[in-house]
Amino acid sequence: MGLIVQKFGGTSVGSAEKILHVANRVIEEKKKGNDVVVVVSAMGKSTDLLVNLARDITKSPSQREMDMLLSTGEQVTISLLTMALTEKGYDAISYTGWQAGIQTERVHGNARITDIKTDKIDQQLKEGKIIVVAGFQGMSSDSEITTLGRGGSDTTAVALAAALNAEKCDIYTDVPGVFTTDPRVVKSARKLDAISYDEMLELANLGAGVLHPRAVEFAKNYEIPLEVRSSMESVPGTRIEEAASMEENLIVRGIAFEDQITRVTITGLTTGLTTLSTIFTTLAKRSINVDIIIQSATSENHTSISFSVKTDDLEKTVEVLEDYKDALKFKKIETENKLAKVSIVGSGMVSNPGVAAEMFAVLARKNIQVKMVSTSEIKVSTVIDQEDMVKAVEALHDAFDLAKQSSAVL
Ligand code: ASP
Ligand code: MG
Repeated sequence: MGLIVQKFGGTSVGSAEKILHVANRVIEEKKKGNDVVVVVSAMGKSTDLLVNLARDITKSPSQREMDMLLSTGEQVTISLLTMALTEKGYDAISYTGWQAGIQTERVHGNARITDIKTDKIDQQLKEGKIIVVAGFQGMSSDSEITTLGRGGSDTTAVALAAALNAEKCDIYTDVPGVFTTDPRVVKSARKLDAISYDEMLELANLGAGVLHPRAVEFAKNYEIPLEVRSSMESVPGTRIEEAASMEENLIVRGIAFEDQITRVTITGLTTGLTTLSTIFTTLAKRSINVDIIIQSATSENHTSISFSVKTDDLEKTVEVLEDYKDALKFKKIETENKLAKVSIVGSGMVSNPGVAAEMFAVLARKNIQVKMVSTSEIKVSTVIDQEDMVKAVEALHDAFDLAKQSSAVL
């Protein structure tokens, strides 16, 4: 008997019928003799609907009011799920993030959890109740409602699991687990039995939407066993755990990809010690996320810098740079659109040199030109033409044997 945290995502609670079904999954866990804390997302696409409503009112809503608005989505689900549990004869109580003691920094729209005061939940658990907590929201020290960033309910669940010393945290979703790559794009994509925290963190940061990156960070730091599993069927999902207990010797565990990438190149920059920091500090201040950066000296006192951004951020990026044209003294800005990022991720890379070379060879055989590269210990990312993206992912999935149950060592 222990404490289990269960989290159900938006699609799993998308209708009254689905909420009644989720109540059964919660009760199953309770019947095993466990204490259960449930974290839920807003129903279906309701967060998107709220965002659109705000857009119909104003182009630039205040961040504070956006948090006020978006936090209502989860509040709908907690009350309905609690009613469903009560209806089925179980004692349950719903809590908003702030009632559950979730404290955050005061950053609207993307707050980090700073502390969780669990007294209230502890007390109610002692009384035998099932606790239903609204995901994605918290409260700052000055009593402002905050949200944790899109997809943040995962983080609420894992942070609660850490604060309550839970045995495990199960993330229930509409897919059966974490796949080697997106199964909607690559037919032979395979569900993984297990993946390490670090690999999952890379994949989540590379846009594999199945888990919020901060949730994985929390799980790793507090060593919370996580499992991503289907809310529809009772089958094992994907365990996310420390590398030590990994069953296979996989070099590449997954492939992530993302389109709508743009490369920005600034040419004729005067070389100076502070040039780089000026450019990237300026962009960061405007919340522009720069990804891969390449600097090359073109002559003794001139450099050019290329970096990639999401295409959505391009307009803002060029605007910011033009504003600083005098200070930065560059010749011109060139941009290339319709690019994609394809990345391979795997802990086995640390001890197996030549993985990047193998990736480039596979892409070359398919006549795919690599335009930018970045690597970490367990990841190689390439920027290529968007039209080659799917072909590249399929070829790499094949070349690294990801469709097979047990991948061969290179
Ligand atoms: N409802 C929020 C969103 O749609 C949080 C979450 O679902 O995790 O992003
Ligand atoms: Mg999610």
